[in-house]
Amino acid sequence: MSVSLTEAERERILAKAAAFAPPGNLLADGRRDLVGLSREELAAEMAAAGEAPFRAKQLWHWIYHQGVTDFARMSSIARPLQEKLAERFVIGRPEVALDQLSSDETRKFLFRFRDNEAVETVYIPDPVEDRGAVCISSQVGCTLSCRFCHTGTQRLARNLSAAEIVGQFMAARDAYGEWPSPKGETPRLLSTIVLMGMGEPLYNYENVATAMKILMDGEGIGLSRRRITLSTSGVVPMMDRAGEELGVNLAVSLHAVRDDLRDELVPLNRKYPIKELIAACRRYPGASNARRITFEYVMLKGMNDSETDARALVYLIAGLPAKVNLIPFNPWPGSAYETSSPSAIRKFANIVMDAGYASPVRTPRGQDILAACGQLKSVVGGQLPVVR
Ligand code: SAH
Ligand code: SF4
Repeated sequence: MSVSLTEAERERILAKAAAFAPPGNLLADGRRDLVGLSREELAAEMAAAGEAPFRAKQLWHWIYHQGVTDFARMSSIARPLQEKLAERFVIGRPEVALDQLSSDETRKFLFRFRDNEAVETVYIPDPVEDRGAVCISSQVGCTLSCRFCHTGTQRLARNLSAAEIVGQFMAARDAYGEWPSPKGETPRLLSTIVLMGMGEPLYNYENVATAMKILMDGEGIGLSRRRITLSTSGVVPMMDRAGEELGVNLAVSLHAVRDDLRDELVPLNRKYPIKELIAACRRYPGASNARRITFEYVMLKGMNDSETDARALVYLIAGLPAKVNLIPFNPWPGSAYETSSPSAIRKFANIVMDAGYASPVRTPRGQDILAACGQLKSVVGGQLPVVR
């Protein structure tokens, strides 16, 4: 793909994202939500309120380091200013519309936003250590309709704002009582973020980027970029930009090694075929043995799980610092595929491993509450009971 074509494509994608823009940060009562503003935007809000720039720094600390949602608890700010801030602003959180715990401790939240749209967020605890991953959504629904994915059956309602993306992590932290943010490498339960929930993060690039910068800011939540993984179905023109500007870990939903099959499973392949996708992976900055690219490969019985497929896969990614996550297909109501047999998965994994690539088989987590990969979908209508 030529550079100019990539740039034109990038502009087209960003323009399309704007058509699905989220609501702004203005509440019905006239106050504004401070969560999700970049540092510059927060400073501009303070200036507009006639406050000195250092207030923005103070607020950043209270909002993202301490996790405070009430101005009255900001002890370094005098009472009159606390009151003035509370008249003009809020520190928002998505509402917990549903909170379900799986028998394996995976926890799924349905978070509802001010316009009643909702997304799912999943906390996946490490089975051994006291840490875990928060799986975050980037869009309400998805435009891409991958054939094996439940989210793909839900049309795109809109993109999430930076506030709603950061807010999923912050609300999950509230639920686990994990404030203030840890300093340095102190282990925490909510220790990594994977952008693998609902939606295609690279189709909502601007909001995702703002949110990631907030999460990585060292004076706030301070998650290192090594602890964040962005998963894409292969939006090639945006992969370069994400690599340059964010430098987070990259996961690529490959799922097939031939264009005819990938065209069918991941329709976006018709636009950005396998060759372009792998070339973008080879360009991805910082890919090294210490920071490998993850290829996700859903195991579908009789579709993509043969030994020939496994050999073609290692040929395709030859020379790339990579690992291959094999995800046994997680069924959902009405899905058309079957999960590969354990022996087919084992044989496939061994071929990939013998070629020198780690090939872990992902045990499905939270299946009893439809929280596993590709099972997420917001229940529409918002008539769910609150279970806490
Ligand atoms: N839209 C992004 C991120 C969300 S999907 C992407 O496609 O990469 C997270 C991962 O779950 C992707 O690799 C996706 O292909 C995979 N997935 C989707 N449906 C699945 C299913 N039913 N079973 C197993 N994995 C699935
Ligand atoms: Fe969208 Fe990813 Fe699901 Fe494909 S796998 S439909 S890109 S969420």
